[in-house]
Amino acid sequence: MTAVPLCVPFARRVEAKAAGAVWQVQERYWACDSSLLRTDAYSRLKPFVPRMYRPDLEGPALRPWLIPSPLWGKNLRAILSTEEWDRVRRHAYEESGRRCRACGGRGPRWPVEADEGFAYDDEGLTHTLMGVIGLCPTCHEVRHWGKTVMKGREQAALDQLMRVNGWSVETAAAAVDEAFERWSWRSEQTWTSDYSWVTRTHGIAIPANADARANAANLQIIGEAPISHTTWPIATDEMTAHDHVRSSVFTPMRRLGKFIGGLFHR
Ligand SMILES: [Zn+2]
Repeated sequence: MTAVPLCVPFARRVEAKAAGAVWQVQERYWACDSSLLRTDAYSRLKPFVPRMYRPDLEGPALRPWLIPSPLWGKNLRAILSTEEWDRVRRHAYEESGRRCRACGGRGPRWPVEADEGFAYDDEGLTHTLMGVIGLCPTCHEVRHWGKTVMKGREQAALDQLMRVNGWSVETAAAAVDEAFERWSWRSEQTWTSDYSWVTRTHGIAIPANADARANAANLQIIGEAPISHTTWPIATDEMTAHDHVRSSVFTPMRRLGKFIGGLFHR
């Protein structure tokens, strides 16, 4: 038997148990036998199954999802009060059973972080919040790949991207390339943001000064970025990925390099 970790909110533990989830006494988490995922029991277990274990899922369980620079900081964290944001993020932690919705894992220091999932309509140029979910810190780093590169953590993120999707290094690197290409195009557009999910889901009204708060957060982040926001990210000497990985992963950086000339030294 292979134990699949499950995302079981405390409030739904009875339902999960009835569906086949078993409490792992020593390690203290809910799991099910992987063979159950191929039986009729799956439909009842599905709400608790992390994406990487879902047999019905089409497409990758996890992918880099870079935020275009005009939208940096334009999120619930910036526009809501601290109390409101705390309510939203804690709800996301609880809903995920404090395990990662992508891989079922937990972080070593804190179990999960709140990931604000935005959809981008590249034709209508709207940026729409679709939900907030719990992700382990490593999967969260995959989502925000650019920031992760700046922290020198891209090898861990690449390993996670390969592990969660069952991808080769080439496939993972191509997905990173594609994400940067998309980021580059999206960063040159003007976007309208839609945060109405939080009103529908949590009954929290969008504050009247939401745009002003989001714009202030955006300017602050861009101001703190080590290089111009149209040229981020940049490879640094702290990167430890082996050469093969570097040459694949950093193709988009070479492409972005045309913006920054001398700064870009690879
Ligand atoms: Zn994870």
